[in-house]
Amino acid sequence: MTQSRRDFIKFVVAGSVVAGCPIDQTLVAAPPPEASVHGEHNEICHAVRDGQRFDRPPVSRRADVVIVGGGVSGLSAAYFLQKYNFLLLEKEPHWGGNAYVEEFEGQVYGTGSAFESMDTPGTHLAAELGMKMLRVDDPDPTLVHGTWVADTWRTGLDHLPYPPAVRRSFKAFRDSMMKIDVAARKEELDNQPFSKYTSGYARQISQWWDGYGPSNWGAKTKDTSAFVALESLQSIAGDRPDDRITWPGGLGAITKTLSELLLRSRSESMVSAATVVAVEPQKDEVHITYAREGKMETVAARAVIMATPKFITWRLVAGIPEAQIAAMRKIRYIPYPVVNLIFDKPVYRRAYDTWCPGNAFTDFVVADWTIRNEVGYKPKYNILSCYTPLQEFERGRLLTEEGSRELAANVLRDFQKLLPAFRTDPLEVHIYRRGHPMFMSTPGNYTATIPVARVPLERVFFGNADSAGPESLTSGAIAASRMGADWVEKLLAGAPRASVLRASRCPA
Ligand SMILES: Cc1cc2nc3c(=O)[nH]c(=O)nc-3n(C[C@H](O)[C@H](O)[C@H](O)COP(=O)(O)OP(=O)(O)OC[C@H]3O[C@@H](n4cnc5c(N)ncnc54)[C@H](O)[C@@H]3O)c2cc1C
Repeated sequence: MTQSRRDFIKFVVAGSVVAGCPIDQTLVAAPPPEASVHGEHNEICHAVRDGQRFDRPPVSRRADVVIVGGGVSGLSAAYFLQKYNFLLLEKEPHWGGNAYVEEFEGQVYGTGSAFESMDTPGTHLAAELGMKMLRVDDPDPTLVHGTWVADTWRTGLDHLPYPPAVRRSFKAFRDSMMKIDVAARKEELDNQPFSKYTSGYARQISQWWDGYGPSNWGAKTKDTSAFVALESLQSIAGDRPDDRITWPGGLGAITKTLSELLLRSRSESMVSAATVVAVEPQKDEVHITYAREGKMETVAARAVIMATPKFITWRLVAGIPEAQIAAMRKIRYIPYPVVNLIFDKPVYRRAYDTWCPGNAFTDFVVADWTIRNEVGYKPKYNILSCYTPLQEFERGRLLTEEGSRELAANVLRDFQKLLPAFRTDPLEVHIYRRGHPMFMSTPGNYTATIPVARVPLERVFFGNADSAGPESLTSGAIAASRMGADWVEKLLAGAPRASVLRASRCPA
């Protein structure tokens, strides 16, 4: 696409690259570090990252439990702990974290988390909230070399537009991987890279997984735990019917429902635009200091749930043992924008999630797929959400609006090359950028790193999706919160020792 044509399309950039710390500079007690060439976002984040000292005003509020982070993990923890005097603190002005929906003229689209499976903590919670289960019921196709191939890993393998030897290689690979007893060899497989299993087969197989992996669990084949990839392969190539559930705009529908419910019943306990800068355990309580509207405040709580990702958590909480900090720091996160193409005419409604190996994006979903056939539904727009996971070294591309627009333009360019029918311009292109939203399912992360990273302190529980695994999942975040809520209840009921609590159930 030429620069001049691009100028006619409206590009909208949203989201913050620096997930941890958009705080007012004036609240920083010592002078901030030198401004970086990347601009303000980066500079402010570094203030927290570098252990900048903030004022600690005296305690002005008390709560039974403070929950830090209003993504699905923090919101569900608040929901499970409604009968207590809780305080939920979220740095963004909105709720939802990585599971967050936006709207274009009333039509909803996703900026992150896409779908759930039946019978998981996510769908159980959604059912409890009265949400209707909407089934995807459509195995994923692949769109490659101008050819659309249905149900990629089952019937699709006979139709992939590759030479016969490559198709045979795909089938041999699938058949061999299906024989592996993944559950029995969980630990061994989790500590091996998936590339060990793809090597020796056609390179197009790794290329396919180099899209599927980053989109689903943040890592390419060589960086992926073999356990995670094989479990996924056995699910998409096996006999089980597609049991995915989603809503328009994806799983942000759950956080929207949760936050609306909590804001109705407990608005005084829900504080957004509040950035926590320190969590300091005392003898019988914990002091949590946060910045909001140009002021610092300190709240005392008997228990804390940290529903923030570990790369932020370890910087905020005092007193974490060294080995545990090392485990928290070992977890890697990718930058991951989502680019929504908003068309004012029908362009594509053929499948829910279409894989496009070898492009600037990995796959795209039809935002309103599960309601498309509802009686009376007449959408004005066809919104396609393009998943655009980046590699860690590419994070800087999101730091500027221009860099983000460039990335979105590349997504549009590649999309328009896929099929002749796609050579139409969208009305608008919205890019939602996030700097570190998804932890990578690297070898050993699930069985070796996470179990060390999530061990609770005396009064601080470590929630978030990265306390569960094996992948970054909404259900994992909710499972961790369920466990955190049980832990808080025991603590508030007087259960004395962390050692007892440590022995409690693990979400993974
Ligand atoms: C593009 C994309 C696609 C995905 N697709 C799927 C999918 O299809 N299915 C699925 O199950 N999962 C998917 N995921 C993963 C899923 O979105 C996450 O696992 C889940 O949303 C994590 O929720 P969380 O509450 O644990 O963490 P987060 O969503 O990271 O929430 C943490 C919250 O803490 C806040 N915070 C951070 N620092 C502070 C601070 N100092 N003070 C106060 N608040 C703070 C953040 O603003 C954020 O709101 C996807 C993720 C992405 C990015």
